[in-house]
Amino acid sequence: MEGLELIKMPKRNDLEQKALQFIMNTGYEGVLQSELWRKLGGSSREGSRIALKLESKGLIRREKELRNGRWTYRIYPKRVPASIDSIADCPCLLCPYNPRCGSAGTITPQNCEKLTEWLLGVAEKEVGILGDS
Ligand code: SF4
Repeated sequence: MEGLELIKMPKRNDLEQKALQFIMNTGYEGVLQSELWRKLGGSSREGSRIALKLESKGLIRREKELRNGRWTYRIYPKRVPASIDSIADCPCLLCPYNPRCGSAGTITPQNCEKLTEWLLGVAEKEVGILGDS
């Protein structure tokens, strides 16, 4: 194969990976399908195919949305990556019982009021965010 230059074909999965990464970063806001393909430089046909594939893998969900009189889809990640900010106020981080806290001991997360209260607060915030979208 001397003298032959190997032509690098773009991997089929590359666009799928890029799309998933982009969608993951949109978090609870999601992204319009058309906007996503515009940003990634793909065609809408290719975009629909990839979106369906990601949906069938259970990685995203699509919701119909009426935009400028036309139906389109908004794409959301199925899982939103945790950020450091989201646990910055977790009571366990500064808890003096932390070294002894565990499921086998007398101090356990299962019966900790502070942790329960914090988790309920997180859940309430999430419901608020999802309700707004
Ligand atoms: S679960 Fe409760 S007791 Fe355990 S480390 Fe967290 S705040 Fe402390």
